[in-house]
Amino acid sequence: MNKRNIAILGSTGSIGTQTLEVIKSHPDLFKADVLTAANNYRLLIDQALEFKPQAVVISNPEHYSTVKEALANENVQVYAGTDALSEVVQIPSIDVVLTALVGFSGLVPTFNAIKAKKAIALANKETLVVAGELITKLAKQNDVDILPVDSEHSAIFQCLMGERSESVEKLILTASGGPFRGKNRDYLRNVSFRDALKHPNWTMGQKITIDSASLMNKGLEVIEAHWLFGVEACQIDVVVHPQSIIHSMVQFSDGSIKAQLGLPDMKLPIQYALAYPERVENKLPRLDFNTLSQLTFEKPDMDTFSNLRLAYQALEKGGTMPCVLNAANEIVVAAFLNQEIGFLQMSELIEETMVKIDHEKNPDLETFSEIDHQSRAYTKEAIKKQRH
Ligand code: MG
Repeated sequence: MNKRNIAILGSTGSIGTQTLEVIKSHPDLFKADVLTAANNYRLLIDQALEFKPQAVVISNPEHYSTVKEALANENVQVYAGTDALSEVVQIPSIDVVLTALVGFSGLVPTFNAIKAKKAIALANKETLVVAGELITKLAKQNDVDILPVDSEHSAIFQCLMGERSESVEKLILTASGGPFRGKNRDYLRNVSFRDALKHPNWTMGQKITIDSASLMNKGLEVIEAHWLFGVEACQIDVVVHPQSIIHSMVQFSDGSIKAQLGLPDMKLPIQYALAYPERVENKLPRLDFNTLSQLTFEKPDMDTFSNLRLAYQALEKGGTMPCVLNAANEIVVAAFLNQEIGFLQMSELIEETMVKIDHEKNPDLETFSEIDHQSRAYTKEAIKKQRH
């Protein structure tokens, strides 16, 4: 395998820092050539001093001069502002762009990276949720691989190796169920953001941890799977599997099922995406069946956790509906973390926004931006009204 130059969009977040650990343990195979951060300039500076990238971007321009000064003696270009993200992904030496930005912000840089014919290691599921049709079409036109970093989609991607797409009957996404598995609505009415941030198996960023507690993460993953693997909503099942050992499964036309298993560690799917189609040795802990007592499965409770139902509805409706779902969700998650609304109100406000925003069947990139803005504004207003 030739050494690959990696651009990490969002290098200071949970996926970004774990990607740097993977790169660090394989200096012969990978180089971190572009690093970007939204606000965390301190960590970005430390990372740049350690990994010696060609370029860094600090999206918040307030921190530009601090970063520039700290790296004055290094051979590194320093850029500021979100527009710079779309430029650095086009640097000729970059082979793979790993997109670990949070939410809608990942869309435009990913779009530009595909146009520049870079392989995409996709950790920003919202990009496919919002604009899956546009992105997958563009990737096909430019002959660009979209390699999933999401553990479930990496599992499915691996299960599909050597199989024909016509033979796929069903995808089965596993869900841990999050910290509130088995709880009812009465219980959920009074849970705090601190309770919601206690994920049983995975250590992740705040937004995705709340999404996991509310099952929105699984809903977004259903939409992501639809676009990545070209299967219909009715062919995507979700099963709760609290141990997070089976990362997902594929059922084929003869009834045979393939599963991918491993310890819950994001470094595995990250490394798989960066090295694809090679498998690279590592020293990560191995799954030991002698200490594994049980693997259990349950049906997801879509009445209590209605976000999953809303995501299926958005996928069936298509067009701009998943964009509305995503935008409203980003706003309600922020409001929940800010203690402005309760846990159950999140779904109610998302549903209300989905009903109220005008639907567009065949949107382009600008329409998505417009609908994203409108939806966010609507949800914010609805939150304000609830509080008065
Ligand atoms: Mg996942």
